[in-house]
Amino acid sequence: MAVALITGASQGIGECIAKRLAKDGYDIAINYYPTENDRAKAVKVAEACSELGARAEIFPADVSDFTQCADMVKAVKDAFGSLDALVNNAGITKDTLLTLMSEEQYDQVIAVNQKSVFNMMKPAIKLMMKQKKGAIVNMASVAGLYGNPGQINYAASKAAIIGMTKTAAKEVGARNIRVNAVAPGLIKTPMTDVLTDEQKGKIFERIALKRFGEVEEIASVVSFLLSDSASYITGQTIEISGGLEM
Ligand code: NAD
Repeated sequence: MAVALITGASQGIGECIAKRLAKDGYDIAINYYPTENDRAKAVKVAEACSELGARAEIFPADVSDFTQCADMVKAVKDAFGSLDALVNNAGITKDTLLTLMSEEQYDQVIAVNQKSVFNMMKPAIKLMMKQKKGAIVNMASVAGLYGNPGQINYAASKAAIIGMTKTAAKEVGARNIRVNAVAPGLIKTPMTDVLTDEQKGKIFERIALKRFGEVEEIASVVSFLLSDSASYITGQTIEISGGLEM
């Protein structure tokens, strides 16, 4: 059975991806941020994946921590025997205008959103190289493609992920490992619940499809990119934004 590890999978887009990949037939490794609250949510996601027929286990790790990521990849390999698909989904926002942003707000977002992708891809790719196959999807954002006021830290982290995706794809393509990214627009999750109605209204006007995205609409593209149906696609960033920018 192919094994998929999804970071930040205790809620939101990550939870939905875990369930979708369980339906696709993967065994599921659910990473969660090590708090009691996130653990309880991750247990529920694992139960849901089990009900869909997958073997599912939970793995605590702060993905901004290099050692915790390496240990987690090893733990997944020990538990399941392989790692075939990795989804670097975990992410945070600390939004405010550039002139008001603290160094800490900047550094935290870079560490969790961007450095985590290095932390995870390094051990995962080493393992996939031994297995002679693998597929990775990194979670970027339209903010990384076009910029977004109040998100200098977030846009920097997500633009970096696009460059990292292309670089890793070029480095490991010959090893039968594909690396792609998706760039969601505004998707209904706990992360976007915090936006004010005014902020949501402004974004809404710019979306061609005139609605926000659903988590399932991200999960289906991730599922495709990880599958053999996307066997000749690597280094790409697929925008999933309802036509927010064109
Ligand atoms: P969310 O806040 O609902 O979920 C994020 C998950 O990441 C949570 O489970 C959280 O616990 C986890 N996480 C945070 N820091 C972590 C850490 N240090 N270690 C491990 N896990 C950690 O957000 P979401 O909307 O589901 O976002 C998921 C991804 O999609 C993020 O990378 C986000 O930037 C990206 N994204 C979301 C949207 C959107 O509109 N919701 C748009 C574009 C991109």
